[in-house]
Amino acid sequence: MVTPLRQMEGRLAVINGRIRDAALRSGRDASAVQLVAVTKTHPAATLVEAYEYGVRLFGESYVQEWMAKAEHPQLVGKSDLQWSFIGSLQRNKVRFLLGRVACIETVHNRRLAGEINKRAMERGGGFRQGVLLQINGSGEASKSGFRPDELRAQLPALLSLRGLRIDGLMHIPAFRPDPEASRADHRALRLLRDELQDAEGTALPELSMGMSGDFEVAIEEGATRVRVGTGIFGERAPRTP
Ligand SMILES: *Cc1c(COP(=O)(O)O)cnc(C)c1O
Repeated sequence: MVTPLRQMEGRLAVINGRIRDAALRSGRDASAVQLVAVTKTHPAATLVEAYEYGVRLFGESYVQEWMAKAEHPQLVGKSDLQWSFIGSLQRNKVRFLLGRVACIETVHNRRLAGEINKRAMERGGGFRQGVLLQINGSGEASKSGFRPDELRAQLPALLSLRGLRIDGLMHIPAFRPDPEASRADHRALRLLRDELQDAEGTALPELSMGMSGDFEVAIEEGATRVRVGTGIFGERAPRTP
């Protein structure tokens, strides 16, 4: 009988293989694309297993849940384990994440950026929090993120915040069952990034785009990070608050 844990190992190998193939197809080295293993709602034991299979970068979405995992005895001492925060973040929770996560991927407006900056400056010592700017390419009011025009206008001010290290852009486009249907969205994010780099003369190397259903298309369009949960860990149980 195949146990769920062996199943995880197999799925991870499959996903890593597909990432590598998509990178090679798009003329890049496999190491140019990082896997963010999305473990929201899964217990710490799942992360411990994934770590054994070589996962080093975990994506979490809920601050409270992440803190419990980060403090778990079997995870807390692992100095090469990194966290990426990918959830919707309220300003009053920034202080819990600051300096403890490698990246806050979901900086979706100027006020949140300002709060992270303020906390980082208070910390001092030249500390800069790694972040990505979340883009709402479709402009849907229900979605958070900078609209492209808004970011064009605000990026110079954001780049002047010395407590932030802005590594690039991320987005969460509307889910579409056919991964090809997301290609245009991913391409648009890359083109926006290229444009902003040229306009500001700054490097925005990271593009976090693509999830279980469409990460290969995202890689073909330039993703440097893909955020994969279900494809490795299976379906998530509904979240209990
Ligand atoms: C949950 C989540 C993912 C992972 O989604 P899967 O479809 O399970 O791979 C990726 N990105 C974000 C922002 C998420 O919240």
